[in-house]
Amino acid sequence: MDWSKIDTVLLDMDGTLLDKHFDDYFWEQYVPEHYSLEHDLTVEEARKELLRRYRQVEDTLEWTDLDYWSVQLGLDLPDLKARLAHLIDVHPFVVDFLRFCRGRGKHIHLVTNAHWKTLGIKLAKTEIGSLFDRIVCAEEVGLAKEEVLFWQRLEEMLKFDRTRTLLADDTEKVLFAADRHGIAQLIFVARPSSRKPLTFSRRYPSIEYFIELIPESERRNIREK
Ligand SMILES: [Mg+2]
Repeated sequence: MDWSKIDTVLLDMDGTLLDKHFDDYFWEQYVPEHYSLEHDLTVEEARKELLRRYRQVEDTLEWTDLDYWSVQLGLDLPDLKARLAHLIDVHPFVVDFLRFCRGRGKHIHLVTNAHWKTLGIKLAKTEIGSLFDRIVCAEEVGLAKEEVLFWQRLEEMLKFDRTRTLLADDTEKVLFAADRHGIAQLIFVARPSSRKPLTFSRRYPSIEYFIELIPESERRNIREK
């Protein structure tokens, strides 16, 4: 990593900075459990039906829209999410990395497909919110991050120089869209969930933890976690 070539750091939230175990558990276990009670199904039947419905809106803003799913499923999802908030966790070395970027004077933006209600629940539970210059939800841009046009609109909004910008994300499709727009440095996060095995990208440099992006000489003060 040549940090002298980077002015702006764009970071995804779920899976990248925060442990995706929360989201996986919420959508694949907790929501099916509640849905099964309402519809007299087994949890397994409910999970099957819900996974099929999630897939229909994959890569769109509907997928992350809590209000959309509350109406679709007849459940109060913001309330269910808040009840599970004890599972929200920041990945190791994320705060160290954000402080490192601040220390180097980089512009740091959180850029997420997450719904604003989800964002609120997560920022209330963690202490990372104050470390960003700006937080952008995809609904503000009007497109999901998987769209190339998203990155053009974001660039107009944040006024960054794409040739001096780094993006880290745990979704390869998102990196691919940003790549097509010309974002210079793309980093794939290979361990989005603490409970799942590593999966490396074949196309982009992969990291397991953000400490890998901090130069060796500056890692001294960072405790092993
Ligand atoms: Mg993500």
